[in-house]
Amino acid sequence: MARTYASDAAPYDVVVIGGGPGGYIAAIKAGQLGLKTVCIEKRGALGGTCLNVGCIPSKSLLNNSHKYHDVQHDLKKRGIDVEGVKLNLDVMLKAKDKAVTGLTKGVEMLLKKNKVDYIKGMASFAGPNKLDVQLLDGGETQVEGKNIVIATGSEVSPFPGIEIDEKQIVSSTGALSLPEVPKKFVVIGGGVIGLELGSVWRRLGAEVTVVEFNDAIGGPGVDADIAKLMKRTMEKLGIKFMLGTKVASVEKSADQVKIKAEDVKSGKEVDIDANVVLMSIGRRPNTSGLNLEAVGIEMDKRGRVVVDDEYNTSCKGVRAIGDVTFGPMLAHKAEEEGVAIAEFIKTGHGHVNYDAIPAVIYTYPEVAWVGKSETALKDEGVQYKTGTFPFMANSRAKTNEETEGLVKFIVEKETDKVLGVQIIGPNAGEMIAEATLALEYGASAEDIARTCHAHPTLSEAFKEAALASYDKPLNF
Ligand code: FAD
Ligand code: NAD
Repeated sequence: MARTYASDAAPYDVVVIGGGPGGYIAAIKAGQLGLKTVCIEKRGALGGTCLNVGCIPSKSLLNNSHKYHDVQHDLKKRGIDVEGVKLNLDVMLKAKDKAVTGLTKGVEMLLKKNKVDYIKGMASFAGPNKLDVQLLDGGETQVEGKNIVIATGSEVSPFPGIEIDEKQIVSSTGALSLPEVPKKFVVIGGGVIGLELGSVWRRLGAEVTVVEFNDAIGGPGVDADIAKLMKRTMEKLGIKFMLGTKVASVEKSADQVKIKAEDVKSGKEVDIDANVVLMSIGRRPNTSGLNLEAVGIEMDKRGRVVVDDEYNTSCKGVRAIGDVTFGPMLAHKAEEEGVAIAEFIKTGHGHVNYDAIPAVIYTYPEVAWVGKSETALKDEGVQYKTGTFPFMANSRAKTNEETEGLVKFIVEKETDKVLGVQIIGPNAGEMIAEATLALEYGASAEDIARTCHAHPTLSEAFKEAALASYDKPLNF
């Protein structure tokens, strides 16, 4: 039951709008720092996009669909014969929902533990320090805060003329809850969402085609060699790619969707049929209903709330973090900003190192990177060297029969200082943490190569790639 507050109650030190990874972490940290804090969330559950319709449900489906696929295609060669394997999609979806509910309830407990008030409702600005809140239970209240944090996240970017019905034409939210496996699943946009959710439905039996505007998949952070390898592994899974292809329109009839696309270079038209289409062409900041105009908060051309180095907006006392402002739309980036903003408010100091924000695409194998890509360094004219080590030469990967992929180090030519790491391979998402730490500490490749790594582990490939960047690998 949402609590209500009298409008004449003492103002809060911090009012956070949005209970996603940016907002709830900001609220928890502010509570821990002894600030009187409230978090206002309109969806009726905490955790934002990430916990409710993003990171968590997608990873549940990625994990369980991978197991289903493995049982059918991987276990036999390991001496495990399994017969009569059947998909129970209903149970798989329920397992996903259970993970979501458990975690969102956990966040509610964390707010309580840190003495943060929680209001279930939709906030909009009534003045620089004042918010009107439409309560989910009905009625309304006003909340005042010395500091207001906008952490309202992002929403699916619309495509002109295409209406998402979450049945035949779905966003990621619909694609996380399809009641049956579609025969033909077409993904528009070969970025992170398209590749992850395309993998899920392919593993569960759909024919999947990814239509991507660019000539490579995965987005700008992934180097060309890694993107190529990634495409090859996904093709082995049976996913078809139409690169350099731009979608122009999507039309639906009772049981079919017709996509009109064109080859970007030749302009040649292509028709594609689907039963279900996933629109995954990006997300945009969510500021709808906030009434930002009332307090003169500036936004840029892409709808992002403009902030300075301390997350201050153009309205005094109002700050913004997470997907609603600049930077990569990632949960852990929003969380780091949540901590920093609470510290700025309490002490005047806070810090996020934007050069060391890792990114992971949770396909199989996973793709992960941190720091600068080769492409970015070339553009900047920085002199660099690279060192790679394939999992094919790693004893643990060989033992596990999971040898696809490699680790690539990108280091400063003169000093061997680590500038970036890109990994495609088993557990890349876990291994990238070591690279992130290396960047944070300004490590050289030699620092890593001379650090003892346990044997036999996949992380030995990480050490060997570091070694390869300034000397010779030992095991390849
Ligand atoms: P959000 O999580 O979007 O939270 C904002 C909250 O504010 C929402 O709950 C919203 O209801 C609330 N709100 C909005 N307006 C108001 C208002 N006026 N009043 C009250 N409440 C309001 N990132 C990763 O790092 N790893 C992943 O694996 C990953 N997977 C993803 C998978 C999918 C399918 C999607 C869609 C996203 C994924 N992301 C992932 C991105 C991640 O979810 C976002 O970067 C992250 O949630 C941003 O956090 P945030 O706090 O800025 O905003
Ligand atoms: P994205 O920006 O990653 O990819 C969108 C893709 O759509 C791009 O490659 C773009 O070239 C393509 N595209 C755009 N218009 C097109 C058209 N008309 N025809 C064909 N292709 C077109 O966006 P997304 O996949 O929707 O993800 C949104 C955000 O969610 C990302 O910023 C990402 O950071 C976040 N996210 C992160 C994770 C993760 O960390 N594992 C998972 C899911 C989502």
